[in-house]
Amino acid sequence: MPDTLIRAIAAAGGVRGVAAVTTATVEEARRRHQAAPTATAALGRTLSATAMLGTGLKDGQRITLRVLGDGPLGGIIADGTGGGEVRGYVANPDVDLPVTSRRKLDVGGAVGRGTLHVTKDLGLRYPYHGSVPLLSGEIGEDVARYLVVSEQVPSVVALGVLVDPDGRVRAAGGFILQVLPGAAAEIPRYLEERVGRLPAVTELVRDGMGPAEILDLALGDLRPRALGDGPVVFRCGCSRERVEAVLIALGRAEIERLLEEQGRAEVTCRFCGDRYMLGPAEVSGLFSAPA
Ligand SMILES: [Zn+2]
Repeated sequence: MPDTLIRAIAAAGGVRGVAAVTTATVEEARRRHQAAPTATAALGRTLSATAMLGTGLKDGQRITLRVLGDGPLGGIIADGTGGGEVRGYVANPDVDLPVTSRRKLDVGGAVGRGTLHVTKDLGLRYPYHGSVPLLSGEIGEDVARYLVVSEQVPSVVALGVLVDPDGRVRAAGGFILQVLPGAAAEIPRYLEERVGRLPAVTELVRDGMGPAEILDLALGDLRPRALGDGPVVFRCGCSRERVEAVLIALGRAEIERLLEEQGRAEVTCRFCGDRYMLGPAEVSGLFSAPA
């Protein structure tokens, strides 16, 4: 089943919600980066958050999340579009920690202390940027804090990735609920209590729930009304042309040094793991092409 997300409004316009099922997207990220379970969970939660926070962006606009902690993962970078295309990587994808005492993947321990940065490139002169210190490194709480502190929107964020014993992603997804100005005073507490009693989002996804059902469950009596839905996919915008542009920017001397050492120029895209290889003839073609 392809990954999807859904947006809704509830409580007569007082609450905005988005939920996503991202199992295939996170599995693709895991496979591309050969990520171990803890790294997969950390990257997957970040990708899910990116997809959901990106809703509302227009063509050509992008959102980037950087989870920069001092733990063994060494940083997670994800970016996405308003169309649900996301990509991302973790600096050390082979990081795998023992599960916590509650039998959870220890994402917080792998991320460590540090900062969450959110950048929105809206095509204006300067991108919008906000950042908050990491609260737990569990990503969900950190994104909620960012929304409260940086965007002044009280928010509940749930993110989860369930990894099978064979290392593959069994279920991934999440939801974000935001309390908008003018909402009834009791709504934040209602949502927190309700969400606190829900099973983990990975259990809901594993049991076959789609994003609409998850959002209905999270919003309870607040009568959600769907605003729209769309796909979520792992997609990287890298291409041979872009790699060639990077090589040209590096300069002829540097590339020739690479060629001498390795016999070819090889570039691996950090975001998706795709490899681009250029032999000596192709490299010299880059620098002899008419401008
Ligand atoms: Zn790529």
